Amino acid sequence: MSDCIFCKIAAGEVPGRKVFEDEHTLAFLDIAGDVDGHILVIPKRHVKNILDCDGETLTQVMRTVKRVADHLTKNCGYDGVNLLNASGESAGQSVPHLHIHIVPRKAGDGIDAWPKFEGAKREIEEVFREIVM
Ligand code: AMP
Ligand code: ZN
Repeated sequence: MSDCIFCKIAAGEVPGRKVFEDEHTLAFLDIAGDVDGHILVIPKRHVKNILDCDGETLTQVMRTVKRVADHLTKNCGYDGVNLLNASGESAGQSVPHLHIHIVPRKAGDGIDAWPKFEGAKREIEEVFREIVM
């Protein structure tokens, strides 16, 4: 998509610190400056988010997520990773090109990568009956 910043990074039209790429996917550093080693993994083709992503593309993306996570933990001194994704504006997605955030973790790093929830508002059984497939 011509005005998509992540498509431009994938195409090399906008600079990005590319950590890994293959035919279908790209992993590059997030510029947020919020946590060391914050990485985004994207499909090279434009997909808005997980809701309009076909299974094959998602498989390619997650294969790269696994590859980068293995690299971080085997070769870079990290112990674990948090994976984060926002799909849809209501979920807080700010860039409308599918991306999985990888936050590399070390024991005792003090990072709190888990969202701060305010507590469920409805009775669990009622919600369960509504969403069970
Ligand atoms: P989200 O809010 O989940 O859609 O995340 C979007 C992420 O994209 C944010 O963490 C931004 O810091 C990151 N971001 C936006 N523009 C760029 C860019 N040009 N290069 C790298 N990361 C970017
Ligand atoms: Zn795009």
